[in-house]
Amino acid sequence: MSTIEENLLRVKEKIEAAAKKARRDPSRIKLIAVTKTMAVEKIQKAIQAGATIFGENYIQEASQKIEEIGHAGIQWHFIGHLQTNKAKYAVKLFDVIHSVDSIKVAAELNSRAAAIGKVMNCLIEVNLSQEESKFGISQERTPELASEMNELKNISLQGLMTMPPYFDDPELARPYFIALRKLQKKIVQDGIPLPELSMGMSTDFEVAIEEGATMVRVGRAIFGERSE
Ligand SMILES: *Cc1c(COP(=O)(O)O)cnc(C)c1O
Repeated sequence: MSTIEENLLRVKEKIEAAAKKARRDPSRIKLIAVTKTMAVEKIQKAIQAGATIFGENYIQEASQKIEEIGHAGIQWHFIGHLQTNKAKYAVKLFDVIHSVDSIKVAAELNSRAAAIGKVMNCLIEVNLSQEESKFGISQERTPELASEMNELKNISLQGLMTMPPYFDDPELARPYFIALRKLQKKIVQDGIPLPELSMGMSTDFEVAIEEGATMVRVGRAIFGERSE
């Protein structure tokens, strides 16, 4: 077994165990293998080992890899910061975009998707920590963006995404995951369906699953440390 295959297996086992602990159905939790900076051959190894969803952060890097690897049997998710001028590439390349954080970006995705006859699956990235350096819309402004995006014909709003500050102790991320779930509940009560919660990374995905994550974005625990 290759290291990637072993790591992938271990992560999947941990996902199952965390789901069981939380009395959740593990089949409702999608593993997104995060491949930023990872070479195509590593991604191929992960595909051979059964990974089916890949997350990339940078349009240009992703574009080259997707051209080489293709879409057969796999999904590509965009999880990086999206600039308006890259929206047209994102729409062409990706199956899901996790990082919509303004109506400007959403409107641009909508018109680019309309132009190629696609309905773009999107999540709203929420900045729960109010850190200046982080991307994402504030918690307070999320319901309004959700309701605006819900009106866009070529956007299918799927859910919310967040990235808590980095903690050595994953328990410290738990309040952020709880906050995202509560925000989801509030928006759903307003009548906007929002099935997905994209939260949890290599160090804290088990805690995120206990708090309701339906998509976990895991890089280093599968592929090892990034060199960049
Ligand atoms: C890099 C990245 C991840 C994966 O982080 P790991 O610590 O490698 O698991 C998840 N989500 C986003 C948005 C990222 O940029």
